[in-house]
Amino acid sequence: MNKTVIIIGAGFAGINLARKLDPNFFDVLLIDKNNYHQFQPLLYQVATAQIEPTTISFPIRYIFRKDKHISIRLAKALSIDTQEQSIETDNGTFKYDYLVLAMGGKTNFFGHDEISKYAISLKTTMDALEIRNHILENFEAIVNHTYEKNESLYNIVVVGGGPTGVELSGAFAEIKRDILPKDYHSVDFSK
Ligand SMILES: Cc1cc2nc3c(=O)[nH]c(=O)nc-3n(C[C@H](O)[C@H](O)[C@H](O)COP(=O)(O)OP(=O)(O)OC[C@H]3O[C@@H](n4cnc5c(N)ncnc54)[C@H](O)[C@@H]3O)c2cc1C
Repeated sequence: MNKTVIIIGAGFAGINLARKLDPNFFDVLLIDKNNYHQFQPLLYQVATAQIEPTTISFPIRYIFRKDKHISIRLAKALSIDTQEQSIETDNGTFKYDYLVLAMGGKTNFFGHDEISKYAISLKTTMDALEIRNHILENFEAIVNHTYEKNESLYNIVVVGGGPTGVELSGAFAEIKRDILPKDYHSVDFSK
């Protein structure tokens, strides 16, 4: 009889593991709190309104539609009972033979509470949309007031100069130069 493998998280790790498990030996239950896989490398383009979220979001059920040994559940994992070999979610309890936690990571603020309090992190599609909406709302505010009153709205601070921070900064520079001036005629972009 096949063993049941539960994988929590349909990110790169969860999806690749599910693909590699031999259907002759394993039944797979893939659980994610979203019904879509998010392609994180292009989140910065969603955050800067260069692409739509649907471009980087793929329905998990579609990815595995040909794999009869892989079941999908939309559920948030809440707790694990290792004695009972079961996992409790907000959508029921599931028994496993093997359990794999592939829930990804979260932004590390390295103890800087002042940054975590004010900054928007960039790990999910929802984060990207929050950044995008925030920037566009700032520009709506800018056109209603004088520069002196709104000076801080003209400034964007990116914390973290790794690939994500650098790509995001570059994309902001592009939309400042090529896109926003077409939409906000009265704004002085040299500021
Ligand atoms: C902005 C950004 C840009 C990146 N660019 C690159 C790049 O260019 N090249 C590169 O190689 N890597 C890049 N990375 C890193 C790469 O995306 C990650 O290393 C990779 O996504 C990690 O995969 P994962 O499966 O471990 O986690 P994730 O992809 O984060 O997946 C975790 C999954 O678990 C689910 N989940 C979490 N908690 C629960 C729960 N309690 N219950 C149910 N489901 C849950 C989430 O919904 C998610 O689907 C980037 C990352 C970011 C954030």
